[in-house]
Amino acid sequence: MRQMTWITTPHMVGWACSDCGWAFKPSGPPRGSDLDEMKQNFERQREKEYASHVCAEYPKAKNGREASKGPR
Ligand SMILES: [Zn+2]
Repeated sequence: MRQMTWITTPHMVGWACSDCGWAFKPSGPPRGSDLDEMKQNFERQREKEYASHVCAEYPKAKNGREASKGPR
């Protein structure tokens, strides 16, 4: 089962999917009148985007599976 995991790579630090190459990118600064509210809004947005992403659409780069180009 897929999980949201905190990752740190040379390219990014943040929340990503354990099963694919999806990573959470906030669309803007967190909204809210105080830190608690900002945190809640941030987490809600994160959960929503995570829940709605489709793993098949975010192939993992380090899967080692190259896109085979068949004769066309
Ligand atoms: Zn995924």
